[in-house]
Amino acid sequence: MTDILSQDLKYLPGVGPVRKEILSKELGITTWRDLLEYYPYKYIDRTHIFSIDELEGEMPYVQLKGRILSFEEVAMGARKKRVIAHFCDGHGVIDLVWFNGTKYVYKNYSTSIDYIVFGKPTLYGSRYQIVHPEIDKVSELSLNDMGMQPYYSTTENMKKRGLTSRSMERIVKSLLERLSTPLSETLPDYVTQPLHLISRDAAMRAIHYPKSPDEMSRARFRLKFEELFYVQLNILRYASDQRRKYRGYVFSQVGNCFNDFFHNHLPFSLTEAQKRVIREIRKDMGSGRQMNRLLQGDVGSGKTLVALMSMLIALDNGYQACIMAPTEILAEQHLKTIMDFLQGMDIRVALLTGIVKGKRRQEILDGLLDGTVQILVGTHAVIEDTVQFARLGFVVVDEQHRFGVAQRAKLWNKSTNPPHVLVMTATPIPRTLAMTLYGDLDVSIIDELPPGRKPIVTQHVYDRSLPSLYDGIRQQVHQGRQVYIVFPLIEESEKIDLKNLEDGFEVLKQVFPEFRLSKVHGKMKPAEKEAEMQRFVKGETQILVATTVIEVGVNVPNASVMVILEAQRFGLAQLHQLRGRVGRGADQSYCILVTCFELSADTRKRIDIMCETNDGFRIAEADLKLRGPGDLEGTQQSGMAFDLKIADIARDGQLVQMARDEAQIIIDDDPTCTSERYGILWRRLRELRKTNINWAAIS
Ligand code: ADP
Ligand code: MG
Repeated sequence: MTDILSQDLKYLPGVGPVRKEILSKELGITTWRDLLEYYPYKYIDRTHIFSIDELEGEMPYVQLKGRILSFEEVAMGARKKRVIAHFCDGHGVIDLVWFNGTKYVYKNYSTSIDYIVFGKPTLYGSRYQIVHPEIDKVSELSLNDMGMQPYYSTTENMKKRGLTSRSMERIVKSLLERLSTPLSETLPDYVTQPLHLISRDAAMRAIHYPKSPDEMSRARFRLKFEELFYVQLNILRYASDQRRKYRGYVFSQVGNCFNDFFHNHLPFSLTEAQKRVIREIRKDMGSGRQMNRLLQGDVGSGKTLVALMSMLIALDNGYQACIMAPTEILAEQHLKTIMDFLQGMDIRVALLTGIVKGKRRQEILDGLLDGTVQILVGTHAVIEDTVQFARLGFVVVDEQHRFGVAQRAKLWNKSTNPPHVLVMTATPIPRTLAMTLYGDLDVSIIDELPPGRKPIVTQHVYDRSLPSLYDGIRQQVHQGRQVYIVFPLIEESEKIDLKNLEDGFEVLKQVFPEFRLSKVHGKMKPAEKEAEMQRFVKGETQILVATTVIEVGVNVPNASVMVILEAQRFGLAQLHQLRGRVGRGADQSYCILVTCFELSADTRKRIDIMCETNDGFRIAEADLKLRGPGDLEGTQQSGMAFDLKIADIARDGQLVQMARDEAQIIIDDDPTCTSERYGILWRRLRELRKTNINWAAIS
């Protein structure tokens, strides 16, 4: 049997070659199936008509039926006017209001026709009004079979060529009429029944033509669940595969290194969150399977220490450990941190970066091979083939988003079994997103800062107040503090931005003739950049003028002010990362967000959230809601792109969890994904991987 849904869209009555061409180009819809899976983005409830005297308080969108009594124009300022239509349904009168398009209103609507009006009523004075209502002639709507009216998104090009949401509606209707036999089911009873999911056939029909809000929400629920369920099943299948393929080293004991450090060298007590995470890591290391764990914790939450203590467990079991940072500066900082912590203990730590060459490099390579170098700190340089270990058992990767999945995998060739891997990131990812993005990793979270930190004070100022901001900076520097001043630099406007930075730097030099300034940006030669950074790190310069190159991990505890210019151009995650560069010492720190005066609603929200909280997880949630997951930093490298058609990771968090739980039960029961008991699932998964390029990426 040929699959009816695989047919070319041009053979669908009502479409034809021309429309097919447009749909294919604008929306990527080429087959009947594509069209079926092009879901409406909203519905209008046409099932109920309110009467005007029923309107009260805050109401959602309503539908009214009546006539326009008269039009009225009201001037708003010198040049603008709004048009008001007084609309009556025999129970009362409301105002329909347009703030622009006067001509359009007069041309399209008149007084002697019955209309269905749709919109959100708001109380204005003593009367309800609907601003920019949707209006249909009663004669053109057959309300009885309408139920919920679907709305499909369309592009400008589609509209220009007469393909509106209404036309999409008719095309889809034509498709549904041709599907005479029920669509085959893609979820088994044991999944659908306990969750009361409706059948795929019912869901597909109802998603396009729900007869009631209830039917619509059931259809959405079923389809969202299915989508998320198969994503989770795919991820867990992958993880289960990996687990079976690779045995993990068993670190059965906690020995001298760990205990000596813990009892005699640890200068403070661990936070509860740190203790919990170390327990989670220990459990993994002893389990016999390879650990792949993502450690999330806000900047300054003490991840490095957790990493170090985990490395000590590896040492206790006779293995070597390695920690990788994305830049040389960060690697050096890690080295210093670790050496400081381990002072007085007999543990050999070495640094390997691109600039370690010649005899020193050879010594380290030898030490790694004969096992005398126990902890290696480095950059990408450590994954080169020339770097071989005697017994590499544990790897820490700092700042996940600069390290791709492929690079993680390369580490595995460095020992017989793959080492345990701990990936640390300071860019918090909301749980549900992490579950999808890094679904093959287990997640640990440090959600607590060490005691005694002063929360960073974040303030928003407009760029016209720069002079008083300069005074504030001057005061801080006179008190011995250091200051970051960040300029935006985005690729699309790189040239202008660089010029801005150069010009800005000159201006700042004149504003602060008494101070020494450094300048760093991504277009500088690495060595030059490194040198400038070092000058600031060492305190030789007081003000660092930079682009976002300082975003990741740099630690200068003496820096107490972060000024972000044109903050409206930065995303939330970036702002939060930048802010994390201060607040690392004992002094009160400040983050100043400088923006232009005119801000969009979204920008205002971003700035408000930044000023309101330092909590990276709250910021990440907000970011996800504002931007949607596709955009989030790091998603491109995750190997698990998003093309969910109906579910929304940001809004459907609970469903993600449900889908995950269901998928987990099945994987636990059939880890090899071969049992015929779940045959329908494995076949469907194969089908989906074939038709969906993005999914294939992680398989
Ligand atoms: P992260 O890597 O998560 O940004 P770090 O590991 O660099 O954070 O820790 C930030 C600072 O806090 C370091 O100076 C570290 O020594 C210190 N620190 C870590 N854990 C604790 C703790 N439990 N109590 C006090 N200080 C801590
Ligand atoms: Mg760190």
